[in-house]
Amino acid sequence: MYLKTLLILLWKTYFFVGKFGISKEFGISNARLAKLLRLSKVKDLLKEQVEKHGIRVHITPSQYTSQTCPKCGNISRGNRMTQKHFKCIRCGYEGNADYVAAQNIELRYTSDVLRSKLHDTDKYGRLVPRDLSTPAIRAILNEYYRPQRIETLSYEEYAD
Ligand SMILES: [Zn+2]
Repeated sequence: MYLKTLLILLWKTYFFVGKFGISKEFGISNARLAKLLRLSKVKDLLKEQVEKHGIRVHITPSQYTSQTCPKCGNISRGNRMTQKHFKCIRCGYEGNADYVAAQNIELRYTSDVLRSKLHDTDKYGRLVPRDLSTPAIRAILNEYYRPQRIETLSYEEYAD
């Protein structure tokens, strides 16, 4: 199978690259910052290599990819029980946290609504994150998931 499209998650690097030295202000250790920077280096390298082979690389905003329930769309830090395990505090959906994040990333590309609202297209036809605030991204996700949230209403929510 020839991979036409590769989605890469732009982890937290947007935030840190170019702002080197802010680690103390943000309360993260230098070791963690270094790890994040290495991760971005890996991504740059991966992007460069796959593009040499004619594979288009799209980048999606990283916000909420690890906190969003793929079943009901509930966004909460509480959904992430541990680094490895995801369990939705609203509907109970459970899974491997990396797999859940991957599903969320994939959806941002495959859903016409999320693809068009969360991204811009550069001159090479690649998706790049649209310049949106984190609350704006959350509002787009909440709007997108509203039908699923209604479908998965709990008894207490019906009563409201
Ligand atoms: Zn859920």
